[in-house]
Amino acid sequence: MTRRLAKLAWASPCSAVGLVFAAVVLLLGGRARPAGGTLEVTFRDSEAALGRLARSLQFRAITLGHVIIAATGQELDGLRAHERVHVQQYERWGIAFFVAYAASSLWQLLRGRRAYWDNHFEIEARSRSAGPRGGSRSA
Ligand SMILES: [Zn+2]
Repeated sequence: MTRRLAKLAWASPCSAVGLVFAAVVLLLGGRARPAGGTLEVTFRDSEAALGRLARSLQFRAITLGHVIIAATGQELDGLRAHERVHVQQYERWGIAFFVAYAASSLWQLLRGRRAYWDNHFEIEARSRSAGPRGGSRSA
């Protein structure tokens, strides 16, 4: 229990940022529910119900600390395992994860590689999650 609280506290600055984004999604009519030690937030249940704004977003899901935000509940079902690896990364890195993730993307760009797909943390999330989908835009 103490270890769990320590992980929550360590990632809490990132989760606070996630809660700000979650509040915006809720104001736009989204939903939130606690699940597995995270807060899952979705704009709509299905793609058909998405508004133009949500459809135009660059990412399908994003994890900020213990807050996972997805365009739809359907997509969250497919990306949940991947996003939970990112939650574990936040628990390991704390607020330094924002810098480490960006540095990894920058490093890949400087090597002529892809900022998102070749990012160390995305590779880890894809390899450790069961599904082959790695298409989420995550920070
Ligand atoms: Zn990801």
